[in-house]
Amino acid sequence: MAESSQKTHAIVFALPLQGHITPIVNLAMKLASKGCTITFVHTEFIHQMLSKSSEVDLFSEAHELGLDIRYKTIFDGFPVEFDRILHFIEYWETMLKDFPARVDEFVGKIIESESSSAYFLITDTFYTWPAIIARKYNLVNVSFWTEPALVFSIAYHLDLLRENGHFPCKDNVEENIHYIPGVSSINTRDLMPYLKESSITTLVQKIVLKIFDDQVKKADFILQNTVQELESETISALNQEQPTYAIGPINFSADSTKPAISQNLWPQADTKTWLDSKPPSSVLYVSFGSLDQTSKQIIQEIAHGLLLTKLSFIWVVRKDIVSSNDTDVLPVGFEDKIRDQGLVVEWCNQTMVLSHPAIGGFLTHCGWNSILESIWCGVPMICYPLASDQPTNRKLVVDDWKIGINLCDGESVTREEVAEKIHNLMSGTVSDGLRMEIKKFRTILQNALAIDGSSEKFFDQFIKDLKAKIH
Ligand code: UDP
Repeated sequence: MAESSQKTHAIVFALPLQGHITPIVNLAMKLASKGCTITFVHTEFIHQMLSKSSEVDLFSEAHELGLDIRYKTIFDGFPVEFDRILHFIEYWETMLKDFPARVDEFVGKIIESESSSAYFLITDTFYTWPAIIARKYNLVNVSFWTEPALVFSIAYHLDLLRENGHFPCKDNVEENIHYIPGVSSINTRDLMPYLKESSITTLVQKIVLKIFDDQVKKADFILQNTVQELESETISALNQEQPTYAIGPINFSADSTKPAISQNLWPQADTKTWLDSKPPSSVLYVSFGSLDQTSKQIIQEIAHGLLLTKLSFIWVVRKDIVSSNDTDVLPVGFEDKIRDQGLVVEWCNQTMVLSHPAIGGFLTHCGWNSILESIWCGVPMICYPLASDQPTNRKLVVDDWKIGINLCDGESVTREEVAEKIHNLMSGTVSDGLRMEIKKFRTILQNALAIDGSSEKFFDQFIKDLKAKIH
């Protein structure tokens, strides 16, 4: 049996997607700052992307601080030049099938190479193999969830959804659900799209089923990148089922002078000079995250809507923002028309943009990181969810917390509607109300990370419980 003098050593596997990378990197940094040794693993492909997009050594800050983070890479089964977004399904199908054997060998070698440590495993909840690896090597298994506890809780209770005929859920039916522990009410319209009948054969649904019907329930601890005070009933109910700790927002620190650590897969455009020239709260930031796509028609309506407002904006238009191969997604002559009104970039440092005083609003797809970053910076939102957890996250932002508004009712949107919603967000009574509310939420996040704040306490409690189990 392990001695308590052994080093507590986490083997951390990041999911190779932008929205999952920054939170788990920050989790690793935080664990290291609390005295854990970390072996941090990215896929070789992600390593190449990160190295290309930044001059800085990935864990340079950690090493400067004397933290024991050992950075390693693992082959994901595809050559670097393979387009993992274009061939998303093939990539993830293969990952599901072949990756566990690679992880197995990898973990075996690490443990063999240094037997003086007490190892445990930290993986993104979206991986489908941690329980198998943890059992084989007798490792404490920590699952890290990077979306709201609400989304976790809905997926966690697939059995209840099945029993009540809500999984798979009929596409156009609207019913209120009251039977999920810790979720007082949710309408079927706000469920994650992968629970819907139309998604029945999709890869994401397959992964979610594998995770929530099996893997997650075998984890020893569940860490959630949320805040107790934001989702208290949901987290408390989950805690009745498995040890669950709300430790977010993990990308930030109570020390506001410390810039947020982010690892970016793509080079970041310079936005600061342009933003510095704009008055406070005058610029709308528009971004639909790192992965999901929309149609050219929607992009064009948003573009025309932005022009109609005459307000300043920064818009992240990724090369792959639309699902077709069309690279000219913006209206003809758009960049000439906007002149100094707007800045279109392919990628930026979002947290830096949101924290700039010139930013007054965020048109977002409602990715969970984007929401936490927007709250952290006190920037109210217009919500246009595209996929995955985003429609459910929208409910929190708009219906529950009232720190954002909807862009439209359904999926389609007109330029007039876009312009109207942007005006509502940027100034006037609706805007004033949203700004007042989001200040309260910002304080909740800040307080959670203070020395005696809930996330700090849960983090320390997690380490205590982990050590008690491991040693
Ligand atoms: N992001 C960024 N620059 C951009 C667009 C996005 O740094 O131009 C970051 C953003 O700050 C967030 C992440 O990418 O941390 C996206 O995560 P989120 O959960 O919001 O959405 P996802 O991409 O997973 O759908």
